[in-house]
Amino acid sequence: MLKRSLLAILSLFLLAQYGWAQEERAHEKFKQLYEELPTPNQYHNAAGAPGHKYWQQRADYNIQVRLDDEKQRIYGKERIAYYNNSPDELSYLWLQLDQNVRAQGSDAQITEPQKIDNQMYSYQVMELFNDFDGGFKIEKVSGKKGETLKYTINKTMMRIDLDRPLKPGEKFEFDVKWWYNINDGIKTRARSGYEYFPEDDNYMYNIAQFYPRMCAYNAVDGWQNKQFMGRGEFTLSFGNFNLEITVPKNFIVGATGVLQNSKDVLSKTERERIEKARTAKDPVFIITEEEAKANESKKDEGSETWRFYASNVRDVAFVASRKLIWDAQGVQFGDRNVLAISYYPKECMGLWDKYSTRAVVHTLKTYSNYTFDYPYPVAISSHANFTGMEYPMICFNYGRPRPDGTYSERLKYGMIGVIIHEIGHNYFPMIVNSDERQWTWMDEGLNTFLQYLTEVEWERDYPCRRGPAYKITDYMGGDKNGIVPIMTNSESILQFGNNAYGKPATALNILRETIMGRELFDHAFKEYANRWKFKHPTPADFFRTMEDASGVDLDWFWRGWFYGTDHVDISLDEITHYHLNTFNPEQEMSMQKIWDAEDPTYIGDIRNKESVKQTVMERYPDLRDEYNDRDKYRVDEETQRNSLFAYQNLSTEEKEVLAKDYNYYQVDFKNVGGLVMPIIIELKYVDGSSEVRYIPAEIWRYNSNKVSKVFVTEKEIKEFILDPYLETADVERENNYFPRRRKPTRFEMFSPRQ
Ligand SMILES: [Zn+2]
Repeated sequence: MLKRSLLAILSLFLLAQYGWAQEERAHEKFKQLYEELPTPNQYHNAAGAPGHKYWQQRADYNIQVRLDDEKQRIYGKERIAYYNNSPDELSYLWLQLDQNVRAQGSDAQITEPQKIDNQMYSYQVMELFNDFDGGFKIEKVSGKKGETLKYTINKTMMRIDLDRPLKPGEKFEFDVKWWYNINDGIKTRARSGYEYFPEDDNYMYNIAQFYPRMCAYNAVDGWQNKQFMGRGEFTLSFGNFNLEITVPKNFIVGATGVLQNSKDVLSKTERERIEKARTAKDPVFIITEEEAKANESKKDEGSETWRFYASNVRDVAFVASRKLIWDAQGVQFGDRNVLAISYYPKECMGLWDKYSTRAVVHTLKTYSNYTFDYPYPVAISSHANFTGMEYPMICFNYGRPRPDGTYSERLKYGMIGVIIHEIGHNYFPMIVNSDERQWTWMDEGLNTFLQYLTEVEWERDYPCRRGPAYKITDYMGGDKNGIVPIMTNSESILQFGNNAYGKPATALNILRETIMGRELFDHAFKEYANRWKFKHPTPADFFRTMEDASGVDLDWFWRGWFYGTDHVDISLDEITHYHLNTFNPEQEMSMQKIWDAEDPTYIGDIRNKESVKQTVMERYPDLRDEYNDRDKYRVDEETQRNSLFAYQNLSTEEKEVLAKDYNYYQVDFKNVGGLVMPIIIELKYVDGSSEVRYIPAEIWRYNSNKVSKVFVTEKEIKEFILDPYLETADVERENNYFPRRRKPTRFEMFSPRQ
């Protein structure tokens, strides 16, 4: 099972430990990230915190929109107050016109690679016929006094040229008037849009990116005016919003912010139910299924305006329909009562009334534990069967039961998971406001990580898709042509879900469970969230804060997991079992004799025993001399003397070690995957007991391909197991066992006559 050898003297293996030649590759893996990370400055400091001169822009909005339920259009006008908190003079302002991604001939459509496959989804075929007239129709851009402002539309961006530069500390107010056709959310599988319900002839609208918004201007990119291609999401400034939404009568509207005119648009009963919900133990219906059914059958003339106010948000979105059922439950944070809310049509009953608001409540509590108390007054989960998409205080989530009310297990957990995920996005990126257009992982990865921690508190054995290390191994061990580093711009990511959600979430989980430990990790992660809440962090701020607050050098980890595409595969290559030489030559020789006898015999020797009938020496025995009769295992007197002398030279401690007759195991590890990781090894003893030894990844710092380590034990070891608790994302487990384990499996035999 294990190879045995003699170990002559203690000093031999001590020498061996320092005998490695330093390799180029190893020191590169542990090189600090000076070349990859931007130089720290007064805006983003070396500790990963906002610097002493950190600043950020602010944009306040007064938005009035009218929802046209006949033509499925939004008509809007807005006044934007843009505050230049930067030290720079701005001679123009950039706005995002995100709806232009759906304008005919947009870059997003033109640059989407297309191919004909033998089998295609119907929507893929229909996309080839896209004639939807999307995109903002900008009607007017004017100053505060109504004077026309010069503007230039560049695809999904609009530049407004200022008559005179906006100086640091100044504010500029201007108006925009626009309209656009709302897309069919089901057909376009978009982030927002409408769904038509033919049975009752009603629309449900989940509306977002519906107004021209300020681009972010910051100390990292200047204007973040990277065009919207559809994937890299949004980069926005914080501000306060007054949002007025005019809808047909009988509509219910939910939006980012607090409803300001509930007396105008809600009945007394509905308002009382809201108050009751605040302290209720279970979700309370504000609009019941029966009431929603009554609403959807009414088509009263006239309209109503719902007014919302939201402070310190980066965006607003809303849901509107006659069909909405509405339930709510309060969550207490100190003396603040936050309303968890769900909106959904009757088609969702059986699933949404049961789980949606409860998932919102649970998510707010869990995320708050790991970051900071949820700071907004409401958190809304709105049903949209075509998407899972997040906005401040409101998100759109899929998951609808079958028409008979039943649902699959997969749908149920998909729906709970997406609600946790999208509500969780309030933290990343709505509050910890990273640049989504550049870095998808900064919000999706961190959010998926917290989603996992939230799911495991929802239900034991929750079928989590992402988070545990072992779930990422297929991706990381896959074809490297299909893998790019996490630190890849949002538009160029391959395998989007694995790259920007799964791998970073797993990496954080590994930091938490294995590299840093829960205490150090949780402290540092919380520090990052608190440093950057309501601010704009960059990847370097995250990397630096996690190190700075934990005292753990993680550059090697960021390098391997975030800047590289290597995978983890550490192999237990060889194990050599030693005992110390006893200094008793006779005992050593008798052991040698036994081991020699166990050696295999050469085939010729075996055959010659039979075939050579008589040798010369057998025929003439008197030819034999001392060499023929020598016992090679006999110990001569000189050897005896030397051994005794050597023994007497040992110190008392050395003699004690010798007397103990320990087991010495030299274990040789090979780094097959390339990613350096801690070595976690379980030693299983012959007596049935076992222990796990943890060796930090720095073991690889001299040689990242091969390392050896000596384990000294009193008890004999019968098996070594690498990564026994599946915590390092090791993609090949067969080489994690010594001796190798056979994988029990089956294959099938069947008759060709079947
Ligand atoms: Zn997400």
